[in-house]
Order: sequence, then C-alpha cells, then structure tokens
Amino acid sequence: MPNDYDLITIGGGSGGVAASRRAAAHGARVLVVEGSRVGGTCVIRGCVPKKLMMYAAGFGGALREAAGYGWVDVGGRFEMARWADAKAREIDRLEGIYREMLRSAGVELALGQARLAGAGCVEIDGRVHRAGKVLVATGGAPATDAMQGLTLAMTSDEVLDLRAVPASILVIGAGYIAVEFASILAGLGARVTLAFRGDRPLRGFDEDLRLRLARALEQQGITLAAGIALEALSRDADGYALQRADGSVLRADAALNATGRRPNTAGLGLETVGAALDRSGAVVVDEDSRSTAAGLWAIGDVTNRVSLTPVAIAEGRAFADTEFGARPSRVDHRTVASAVFVDPPLATIGLTESQASRRGPVDIYESDFRPMKTAFAGGAARTYMKLVVDGLDGRVLGIHMLGPDAPEIVQGLAVAVTCGATKRDFDRTIAVHPTAAEEFMLMREPTRRLPAATN
Ligand code: NDP
Repeated sequence: MPNDYDLITIGGGSGGVAASRRAAAHGARVLVVEGSRVGGTCVIRGCVPKKLMMYAAGFGGALREAAGYGWVDVGGRFEMARWADAKAREIDRLEGIYREMLRSAGVELALGQARLAGAGCVEIDGRVHRAGKVLVATGGAPATDAMQGLTLAMTSDEVLDLRAVPASILVIGAGYIAVEFASILAGLGARVTLAFRGDRPLRGFDEDLRLRLARALEQQGITLAAGIALEALSRDADGYALQRADGSVLRADAALNATGRRPNTAGLGLETVGAALDRSGAVVVDEDSRSTAAGLWAIGDVTNRVSLTPVAIAEGRAFADTEFGARPSRVDHRTVASAVFVDPPLATIGLTESQASRRGPVDIYESDFRPMKTAFAGGAARTYMKLVVDGLDGRVLGIHMLGPDAPEIVQGLAVAVTCGATKRDFDRTIAVHPTAAEEFMLMREPTRRLPAATN
C-alpha cells in the first residue's frame, strides 16, 4: 500500500513544527498531529506566557525605581484578570501564526490523539495513516509523583491561567520553573515560600550563581525554606500544608508543584512498534534522534536530553535536513546556553567552575557590582559575572551571569564560546560603553587560579 505521507509528526510544539516545516521545505509530504493547541508547551503554556507574566511583574520594581529618577505620582494596582485576558489574546494570535506557518509550508494539520499502530502506521481517532517516517515530538508534562498530595497543587499550566494573585503561595521545588514563578509571583505581590530539599536553588548551576540567586530571591522578600526533605502536601479549609521530614509544616493559600517534568509517552503505542524507553520514560534515541524502532525518530522533551525549546527546534531541523534534505547534521548538546527568568535574571553557558576544574587547571575571572540604573535609584541589587577559563590554553569554558539583561548578554557571548574564543579574544575586543556587558571584556586579572581537582 502506498504511503499517505513521507512524514507524520506527532506533536505540534516548537520541535514538531520546526521539523515538519523543514521537511516540507525539502519536498516531503508532511502531516502534523496535535492533540491540544498548535505551538505546544513553549508557546501555549510555557516560555511565552511565563515571560509575559514576568514582564507584568517587572513593572512593580520599575515604578518604584522611577521615583528615584525624579518621576512623581507613579503607582497603580495590578489587576491580574486584565493581564490574563490580554495574555489569552496574545497566545491565540501566536497560535494563529503557528497554524499559518504550517499552512504556508504545505504541512497538513490533523487535530486529534495519535497512536502508533505498527511500523509507519499512525492511528488518529480511529483512522490509520501511513508514512515512510514517523517523528515523535510530544514534549513533556508536570511530574506529580515526587511526594504524596502533589496533584492537589497547581502546575505551571494553571499558574499561567490565574486571574488573581494568591495572597500566599508555597512553591515546591527549586529548579527553573520553581524559581521563575517564585520570583514572578513575589513581584506581583504574593507572599512566597520556596520549599526545597537542597541547600540552594538550581542544583547543577555554578555555585556562585546559586549563592547570589538565593540572596536575590531573599531580597525580593521570598522565604527560602531549604535543606529539609519534603514529605507530603495536603489541603484543608485553611489552605495548603506541606509536611517536611523534620516534622515542620509550611502553610499557604496556594501551592505550585514544580518538581520536574516527565516525557509524554503514555498512550502513544510506542511498545507496539518496539521503541525503547529509558527509566525516566523518555524515548531512547541515538545522536541522529533515531529510536530503537525502525522508521521512528523522536526529538525534544520526550527524549529528555536537554529539555529546552531551542534544542528541540535544532533537533527537529537536524532530523529533517538529514532524512529529507540529504544534508546530514547533528546537534551538539554540550554547549547550550540557558537563562532563568528571575529578578534579576541569570544566564549561563558552558562549564561551571567545579566542572571545569575537574578537567584541568582553571582561571576564574569575576566582577560583582551594583548596576548603574539600580544604584542611582538607591537599589541594593548587584550584578555578578564570571568567566571560567582553561588554565592551560586560555579557552573560555564557561560564562555565568546574574543581573539585568543577563539572558541577552549571554546569548551574544554564546557565539564566542561556541567558536572556541579565548580570554585573549575577550581582551582584544573593544568594549561598548557604558554597558554592563563590557565588564566581560574588562576583566584583567583572575580572582583565583585553581589547580585541576583530583576528584
Ligand atoms: P527541574 O528539573 O529544573 O527542577 C525540579 C526541582 O524539583 C528540583 O529543584 C528538584 O530538587 C525538585 N524535586 C524533584 N523531586 C523532588 C522530591 N522528591 N522532593 C523534593 N524536591 C524534588 O524541573 P522544572 O520542573 O523546574 O523544569 C522542567 C524543565 O523545564 C527544566 O529542566 C527546563 O529544561 C525546562 N524549563 C526551562 C526554562 C528556561 O529555560 N528558562 C523555564 C522553565 C522550564 P533537586 O535539585 O534537589 O533534585
């Protein structure tokens, strides 16, 4: 029987849409199947609405700062329902753009639940379609199994649909989602308790960033309930109660579960085609995103490699170029920049100080200062910058920053790191003045030199 399509993509999020459009540009006949809204987590219930909420939260501080610059009678009140209505309109608009991008690329869209019904066979609401290749790009969803009672809490999905700011909220976890929403909700006026088992937020990030992030969150008025294992969440007429291993109980009017995400593989029929899953439930793939089942590939969060939108997009395009464009390409997952949108934001690329020193001697360059704009208005917030440099050949191995515009600055510098720039290249780059970013060009002497760590 002839194939209906060259490619069926299951999942119309950032990765699936990018792969499908690129495959169609190479001449493939492509069908995308989406069970919810086109645009996926990032556009509909993730990065985009989160950033719109972050912008809303930022006005509080900006209005306070304005007074320091001579503005009078500034003030006002945040009405979250107004923000929610405007956000919904914006997400509708963006979903429309995503649909239009698929249409103009010649990609067909089917709304419904897809299930693999055999090699190259995808059943969509009872009807089977055949394709030469199938791509799974179904993303992930909030995990609720870290402790008892977590299903009682909101997830990032529901927080983004709030129409009123809760008076108080327990944010459970200390990863990307937890610290971002803790900071945003505090900026909007909620009393926030960040409850986590580690000593500092953002395990895995550079220790100096973690330390300064903890301070910045506290400066924002967030209570850090750290260092004690979390046991169970419950709810009664008074609100939410989080039981901790030392017997203490944290309480608030609302609760957000931010204890990680799981790959969306349930109900896809992956077992029927013999696609292996790892212990986290992610589809096992090789460097070319090829699963263990013939004719089946997977990209993005469902593979649990580096769960970030731009990585999913890059994986999708690499798949399409390799399989339909005769331009084999692979994604390098080693050097991926990322940002955490707290107040002030932080961003990072490459190795942390401790990762680098496990590989060899390192030179650490740092700058810690009060940014001009904040200092002028009497603010106490500080900016922190760190370069991790190879002690032998001078290559910049890592860049870490916490401070206003950190994501924008690190994105630019990510090109230099990807190209293998050395500290000398930074030194001979003429600064743009007056900026915060120029500090990265003006770091003359290392603040410390570390020998290669032995462990
Ligand atoms: P993360 O994996 O970043 O963080 C999970 C948090 O939950 C950690 O603090 C972890 O603690 C904690 N946790 C897990 N299990 C338990 C437990 N049993 N008891 C107590 N605490 C627990 O997941 P997120 O949900 O924050 O984000 C999911 C993914 O989404 C991220 O990996 C990221 O890739 C992506 N994302 C990216 C953003 C960005 O780029 N700005 C923004 C939002 C999401 P511990 O560290 O101790 O294990």
